[in-house]
Amino acid sequence: MFVFDPDYRPAPDLLAGRIILVTGASDGIGRAISLGFARYGASVVLLGRSISKLESVYDEIMEAGGPPPAMYPLDLAGATPRDYADLASRIDSELGWLDALVHNAALLGDLTPLEQYDPLTWARVMQVNLHAPFLLSQACIPLMRSSSRASIVFTSSGVGRCPRAYWGAYAVSKCAIEGLTRLLADELGSVSPIRVNAINPGAVRTRMRALAYPAENPATLPEPAALLGAYLYLVGPDGMGLNGESIDAQP
Ligand code: NDP
Repeated sequence: MFVFDPDYRPAPDLLAGRIILVTGASDGIGRAISLGFARYGASVVLLGRSISKLESVYDEIMEAGGPPPAMYPLDLAGATPRDYADLASRIDSELGWLDALVHNAALLGDLTPLEQYDPLTWARVMQVNLHAPFLLSQACIPLMRSSSRASIVFTSSGVGRCPRAYWGAYAVSKCAIEGLTRLLADELGSVSPIRVNAINPGAVRTRMRALAYPAENPATLPEPAALLGAYLYLVGPDGMGLNGESIDAQP
């Protein structure tokens, strides 16, 4: 199993000229890594459901002098295969290719016994956390074949490796993400340069973490920006050769 080196020091121009799509770019980890990718030179396609929150990330990248990002408002809970095909076609016509796809958006759903789990919440969590990454990958893989250094990153979780009582659809979706990572890595590894890995962020100070652990003091947790190194490693050239792994962003 690959262990990420927390002392990893990326080159300042690590992502120059690269095009990276991040889902859930409007908040939490997705916001922090989008800002970070732009700082290292990438043109970031910011996907999220709130235009005003995406605009704030856009503005911050522009104010910092980063490459102009693209905003793509899309609600993954209701998106259809047609929506993903439209997204891929827009990237193709306006940007030409895609170097990296970071599946970050997710919903926590309910923390409750399975016997009482609301079926509609179950379906929505599975839609956003599992079906959307499947459909988006399917739509984007052809665009990534034009890149000699393409990388797909799925986002896992501790309960995706070791499911725990009451974590319901969230844990099941993350277990499936672990499986999807290995399956797709195996499929693409022998026939394309596209590498496929997963990342487990560990405990991070975000809205989702606060929902899951309301009694926890957020000040005891790292900020999302502290994880940037692991994401840079996975999407950038230093991680080439890594395929089918699920890495921990924090030691
Ligand atoms: P947040 O809740 O802070 O952010 C989630 C992001 O996903 C937001 O940008 C949110 O948009 C977006 N999103 C949610 N639903 C949709 C939707 N239907 N359509 C489009 N975008 C959507 O979560 P985190 O940053 O904490 O989590 C990011 C990833 O890391 C997730 O995959 C999570 O499972 C994983 N993770 C997080 C951990 C933690 O401690 N924080 C621990 C382990 C894993 P909006 O702003 O509009 O709500």
